[in-house]
Amino acid sequence: MPDTLNFLRNRFGSAILVNEPMKNHTSFKTGGDAAFMMLAQNSGDIADAVSFCRENSVPFLLMGNGTNLLVSDSGFNGLVIKIAEKMSGVFLNTAGEIEAGAGLLLSELSHFALTRSLSGLEFASGIPGSVGGAVYMNAGAYGGEISGVLVWADIILNGEIKRFSVSDLALGYRASILQKNGGIVTAAAFKLVASQYSEIDAKIKELNAKRREKQPLNKPSAGSAFKRPEGHYAGKLIADSGLAGYKIGGAAVSEKHCGFIVNEGGASSSEIYALINYVKKTVFEKFGVALEPEVKFAGVFE
Ligand SMILES: Cc1cc2nc3c(=O)[nH]c(=O)nc-3n(C[C@H](O)[C@H](O)[C@H](O)COP(=O)(O)OP(=O)(O)OC[C@H]3O[C@@H](n4cnc5c(N)ncnc54)[C@H](O)[C@@H]3O)c2cc1C
Repeated sequence: MPDTLNFLRNRFGSAILVNEPMKNHTSFKTGGDAAFMMLAQNSGDIADAVSFCRENSVPFLLMGNGTNLLVSDSGFNGLVIKIAEKMSGVFLNTAGEIEAGAGLLLSELSHFALTRSLSGLEFASGIPGSVGGAVYMNAGAYGGEISGVLVWADIILNGEIKRFSVSDLALGYRASILQKNGGIVTAAAFKLVASQYSEIDAKIKELNAKRREKQPLNKPSAGSAFKRPEGHYAGKLIADSGLAGYKIGGAAVSEKHCGFIVNEGGASSSEIYALINYVKKTVFEKFGVALEPEVKFAGVFE
């Protein structure tokens, strides 16, 4: 795609990377090369890049911090637009809301709230995603969820940037309207409540200690591989199916937390994909419960 490269390089200069290994950008540490990657600097650039891709039939993929993403071993034959790292400004606006760029990490957002003695984002401090990815997924943990603190998000849709209120976003369990309409989050605002620094700090420490105790944080993963099926826990169904520690190549069902699929070292994305399907099939045969992956897939999987 030489014309694509010329356009992207002329328009966005050094923000464009070519043949970029996706394993360096995903928490699974797997995935082939992105033909092109743009390290997005601002919303105008994202809107221009998306319009160019649409007009020229170039496939594109939005990503935040790659912590819920399995990219094919054959990579992504198009443009990956990475929002995390840049676009990570954060401030308290005149309405008393925390306004953050989509690229800000949730750990940083939660820390910012702590430093202002604002409570409500303690649950997010151990989730390794970006603000944009968290709005898209309606990320949550330990009884908290983005939907409980979000006021609005700025969204690129059909070439325009529009402000969506939290109700416009139709946030549900790991779901948002963005998963249907292809909207792209560029910024978001959160309303929290005033509290004591020491209480917020203690809560964050307590939740992060729980995570370290229960989750295999020392191994590459995407967190819980499956959504919680109604009336069940995915991890328990998987454990009760006898799959703790089950491996396909370098991919394994974590023995510490069966809801996590981990890369034991040198796993390929196809092995992780095969294991996800094997777990789904086994749990369905055993309990008649259809597990739905929480992880998003990018590129071609056979
Ligand atoms: C160790 C570990 C623990 C985890 N714990 C939790 C947890 O407790 N709770 C939880 O909910 N999740 C958890 N996760 C999963 C993950 O961190 C969240 O889903 C997070 O919200 C993903 O954000 P991201 O920026 O990494 O998104 P990515 O993985 O980059 O992308 C995920 C999806 O969001 C889309 N997307 C990303 N950014 C944008 C944007 N700006 N606009 C539109 N679409 C976008 C992508 O296209 C993709 O479909 C965990 C992951 C790991 C590795």
